[in-house]
Amino acid sequence: DNYASIMGISFPKITLDRTVEVLSEAIQQDHSDLFHVITVNPEITMACQNDNQLRSIVNEAGLITADGIGIVMISRFKGGNLPERVTGYDTLLRLLDSGNREKWSFYFLGADAVTNEKACEAIRAKYPNLIISGRHHGFFTMDEEIDIVNEIHSLKPDVLVVALGAPYAEKWIHKYKSKLNAKVAIGVGGSLDVIAG
Ligand code: UDP
Repeated sequence: DNYASIMGISFPKITLDRTVEVLSEAIQQDHSDLFHVITVNPEITMACQNDNQLRSIVNEAGLITADGIGIVMISRFKGGNLPERVTGYDTLLRLLDSGNREKWSFYFLGADAVTNEKACEAIRAKYPNLIISGRHHGFFTMDEEIDIVNEIHSLKPDVLVVALGAPYAEKWIHKYKSKLNAKVAIGVGGSLDVIAG
């Protein structure tokens, strides 16, 4: 079987390498719906237990990965054998690396204003060939939120990086899925704080 069922969530047996391949394919496709990848961490797993909306968002995602060593360990105990933990942060670093090679465009949403700017500066310095088509901090009003969605829509980024925290980021991506006009969207938790240093 290619899936391990843990706490009601059906995880594909997928490595980080394969995850990045699947996302690259989604980006290379000329015309497709937004591909939502969810790295399911312990917060999301727990929240799914009594949040049916979140559970259906996870079920509808293009791809989910097991972002928790606990989930991977349980899968081994149960004989499901997930190959490895695939975190949002590691996936983001790999996307930045591929994006630098392939000249993908990115939009970075989330973290506070200073952190967002610092993270984008650090990314620009380390990955000079990728395109930062836009960015916005993650503390916005409802009016600003509409403007952000419209901006992302018009910029059509290859990758929308959403650092709003889990599961808020996943719900946000899902809410605007049809309006975002991005190829891949991923919630990355506190990754921009880490990158900003
Ligand atoms: N964040 C945000 N807007 C909010 C709440 C949080 O941009 O309304 C950002 C916060 O600044 C941080 C990120 O979301 O950069 C993730 O926060 P946290 O570390 O709590 O999330 P986790 O890593 O647990 O998913």
